[in-house]
Amino acid sequence: MSDTLTLLEELIKRKSITPVDAGCQDIVAKRLKPLGFKEERMNFAKTKNIWLRRGEAAPLFVFLGHTDVVPPGPLDAWHSPPFEPTVRDGRLFGRGAADMKSGIACFMTACERFLANHPEHKGSIALMLTSDEEGPATHGVVKVVEVLENRNEKIDWCLVGEPSSDLSVGDVVRVGRRGSLCAVLTIHGIQGHVAFPDIADNPIHSFAPALAELTRENWCNGNDFFPPTRLQVSNINSGTGAENIIPGSVDALFNLRFSSELDADTIKQRCVTILDKYNFNYDLEWRLSGNPFITRQGELIDAAHIAIKKVTGNETLNDTGGGTSDGRFIAPTGAQVLELGPLNESIHKINENVIIEDLEPLSHIYENMLVELLVSG
Ligand SMILES: [Zn+2]
Repeated sequence: MSDTLTLLEELIKRKSITPVDAGCQDIVAKRLKPLGFKEERMNFAKTKNIWLRRGEAAPLFVFLGHTDVVPPGPLDAWHSPPFEPTVRDGRLFGRGAADMKSGIACFMTACERFLANHPEHKGSIALMLTSDEEGPATHGVVKVVEVLENRNEKIDWCLVGEPSSDLSVGDVVRVGRRGSLCAVLTIHGIQGHVAFPDIADNPIHSFAPALAELTRENWCNGNDFFPPTRLQVSNINSGTGAENIIPGSVDALFNLRFSSELDADTIKQRCVTILDKYNFNYDLEWRLSGNPFITRQGELIDAAHIAIKKVTGNETLNDTGGGTSDGRFIAPTGAQVLELGPLNESIHKINENVIIEDLEPLSHIYENMLVELLVSG
């Protein structure tokens, strides 16, 4: 049994449902401190954050990850208990196996081998872990970055161990993410009897043509790095349940995943322009959960491609798909950011798992990236 697998099992046993860390960060600290990493806890509200840095020189390479996991869902649907790591058919099952405790276990064993072989490497290595990535992410990486920025501690390269891979480990790396903008729209009408529509005002009927235009709109065509921007309606609620009442209002939730061709203010303005064409009263509230970010090129991407080729023999694809990630808080500091981790096929699902044979290659890819950036470069 490999060190990485043993470590991963230890982490999965901790029931760290967001924002609980359940001692995961203690496991990492205990293992890395003897190698010269200095430990700093930066806890905010219920969120646990840890900053482990070895060395003071620039450039600084950071492994970024989260110890929290999403809730398991119905326990009887799991083939083995979600917080009892279980090996079956060459896979390790458990909540967090892919997202992203395997990334963290690989960070640790990569550091151990790298430091054994290159104790005099240039620059510094750090790990930044939070227990608030799957939740609102308000007291996690965003706060730690604030602390680092205030004391002028600059990250040069940030590797996020999120599950980026599609069919085989390292086949896809994420070099950016789309932005995410959410809207809550309420259309006001006048409630009444369906038999007397002239003295009521049906907000569903008012909204229908505006909804059609919002969903038909070509927001942008994307660019070399991003797909076209799309608006998706996630919820529409209206009506009392009775068949003879015209409802008084409609609530609609929608979200746009947007490319670097657009910004939140432009999108908001364009939405308002569309809604104002139609004759109804409405309230509109926005929540920006992340701006788009992109690392177009640089040593970090080069190092990832070289390391993946060396370990797996395969070429890798730069991609910007998927949801938002904590990389969105690091990118604005000017750091190069890249996400590279195991297969993402089972993340957030019942029976989440990781292919055991993928663990050592992933750990070796991380180690080789350190060699590229802090020894050879
Ligand atoms: Zn994750």
